[in-house]
Amino acid sequence: MALSRASCQCGALTLEASADADICIACNCSACQKRTGSAFATVAYIPKSAVSINGEQMSWSRKAESGRDVENYFCPHCGTTVYWTLDFRPEHVGVLIGAFDSPRPDPSRVVWAKEKRPWVSFPAEFESFPEGSPTPRQ
Ligand SMILES: [Zn+2]
Ligand SMILES: [Zn+2]
Repeated sequence: MALSRASCQCGALTLEASADADICIACNCSACQKRTGSAFATVAYIPKSAVSINGEQMSWSRKAESGRDVENYFCPHCGTTVYWTLDFRPEHVGVLIGAFDSPRPDPSRVVWAKEKRPWVSFPAEFESFPEGSPTPRQ
């Protein structure tokens, strides 16, 4: 069982995980592009029972294109999103992979491939879905 730590840019919001992720994804949806200011988001889904969160945070929720609710949690000082929760995956916390201090896990699944920027490509062995993951169990 790995102990990993994630934090915002200024360090006011931190998260500790005492278990590895069950699944790591790269999400190409347009909302992730908007939120990150980049081409896609990478997220590690860690069992909720293994996650502890410290520090100040704010949250903002939105309805995803899939119709699922997404709640983004971010530092009120520097604005970095450290994690999100989904009603679709109530047993998991989605930790933004870029927020990990070390080691950073790697994704193995691509979601919302239909909104992927044309210049982005992922390794052929990554599992790929045109929209979101089909079931929360995997
Ligand atoms: Zn911060
Ligand atoms: Zn997304």
